Amino acid sequence: MPVPWPSLDATRRSSDLDSLRRRGVDVLVVGGGVTGAGIALDAASRGLRVALVERGDLAQGTSRWSSKLVHGGLRYLAHGDLGLARDSARERAILMTRTAPHLVRPLPFLIPSTAGRAAVALGRLGTGAGDVLRAGLPGGFASLPRARWVDQDRARRLVPGLRPQARGGVVFWDGQLIDDARLVLGLARTAAAYGAAILTRVQATSLGADGAELVDRWSPGQPSGRAEPSGPLTGVHQFSVEARVVVNATGVWAGELTSGVSLRPSRGSHLVVPSNLLGSPQAALTVPLAGSTSRYVFALPQLDGRTYIGITDEPVQGPIGEEDPSPDASEVEVLLETINTALARPLQPGDIAGSFAGLRPLVAGGRPSGSADLSRRHLITRDRAGVLTITGGKLTTYRAMAEEALDVVMAILGQEAACRTRRLPLVGAGTPQRLAGLDADSWLVARYGTEAETVAAEGGPDGAERVVSHLPVTVSELRYAVRHELALGVEDLLDRRTRIGLVPKDRAAALPVAEQVLAELSTV
Ligand SMILES: Cc1cc2nc3c(=O)[nH]c(=O)nc-3n(C[C@H](O)[C@H](O)[C@H](O)COP(=O)(O)OP(=O)(O)OC[C@H]3O[C@@H](n4cnc5c(N)ncnc54)[C@H](O)[C@@H]3O)c2cc1C
Repeated sequence: MPVPWPSLDATRRSSDLDSLRRRGVDVLVVGGGVTGAGIALDAASRGLRVALVERGDLAQGTSRWSSKLVHGGLRYLAHGDLGLARDSARERAILMTRTAPHLVRPLPFLIPSTAGRAAVALGRLGTGAGDVLRAGLPGGFASLPRARWVDQDRARRLVPGLRPQARGGVVFWDGQLIDDARLVLGLARTAAAYGAAILTRVQATSLGADGAELVDRWSPGQPSGRAEPSGPLTGVHQFSVEARVVVNATGVWAGELTSGVSLRPSRGSHLVVPSNLLGSPQAALTVPLAGSTSRYVFALPQLDGRTYIGITDEPVQGPIGEEDPSPDASEVEVLLETINTALARPLQPGDIAGSFAGLRPLVAGGRPSGSADLSRRHLITRDRAGVLTITGGKLTTYRAMAEEALDVVMAILGQEAACRTRRLPLVGAGTPQRLAGLDADSWLVARYGTEAETVAAEGGPDGAERVVSHLPVTVSELRYAVRHELALGVEDLLDRRTRIGLVPKDRAAALPVAEQVLAELSTV
């Protein structure tokens, strides 16, 4: 394992960019979401020279707007897609037991009896089948407890805000990511440990068989809070790079850089509410959407005292810009109405502290009745210019997608090297014993794993202070992000290295602290 882990910062970005311009690479990965970061790690750990370019920040796109579940594919079982369910369960076990046990925790899900007999019976059947599937996988049996029925008392202990009419419910277990953006960062930083150049604020404008045209969107010397130059991106900002293989991993934007990729994006939205409004649940409340047997609204408790309520599935038409998507009024209404059927104190619109939405890169070609039925499978394709595109799939299966993509890349290069990522721990990974023995706050251990002590030590005299009084995020995390995690602007700090920004009021309160840390540590 490469310890100490490399620091990604503005200085390393400059030297990596310089080296990319001069020497080129074997593999250029375009897109810094979970797909691109997973590919960069697979490629670098097979010994290839790799650069990843991302036009914004790491996890700028869909990969930070997910439900943050590493899930075993219950809905795929419901659709009879055993293959995808099995792949998902296998990848979940790999993440939870070997590659990122610090980032994924087991989370109980409760389907309360108030969901109705049919929903409860189907839930029991599906989760039981999931357990059987898991038991047959390496590491799968030990990774999570089995599904079971719980009585009223136990159900209310798991979700204290439950309606008194709930006589109990089905509890099943799945994996929950502490933060999807941190998984992407962990992949990128681990890839860097194997030599990959990780270049944010670098946009690809055209791709070809032997390289790409790139634009550097970060102007050296600018105040750190303003990452993007305001004028047109010309002159010194534009350059060409050579690469033996170019991989387009730009998610819902994949069709902008290549022909022959047909996507039907769908928006999924979440609301953010204070967890105490649901009685500070220990389990994810799981309520079927009216009229559906396989789609649920979840209330997902997070470690920072917030609960995310999602998810919707709305087909999106037309071109997709760079701005963040947001939920529309009807999605907010459906989410509140559905979750309220299970709560003693119904949530009101005024209880919503924040909201977020992301666009799924669904591959067209599934059943045409709506985006919920479109395939969650991925697509790997090579266009006439020789550019390899990989899109679709999901966060849970990023590693398997990367392995498959790299097998194709190796064939194109005419080289041989086996995939190593099944057993390759990400930065911060450690055994439960090692993590439990760390001398650091449990919040830091959950987000940084074995790096938690370093994060705490980096903080300086005010490092342990909270950035916002009611959230556990500390000033030391912001400093660590600038020094080691390639945070170049306040939005990186507030919206991706931490998730303070999910609640606008918290974001406003944290802004001066983030600006202060950046001003203090800016080197370029
Ligand atoms: C609401 C929602 C909930 C979900 N929940 C889950 C879940 O719980 N579990 C799960 O397993 N999956 C989930 N998914 C699916 C999962 O989030 C996505 O499949 C995955 O994040 C897609 O990652 P990606 O890297 O392919 O795309 P992205 O994360 O969008 O990455 C693409 C990147 O490419 C960059 N880019 C675009 N154009 C260029 C360019 N020209 N040059 C350079 N960079 C460029 C973008 O800025 C972006 O960062 C969910 C999806 C949604 C929308």
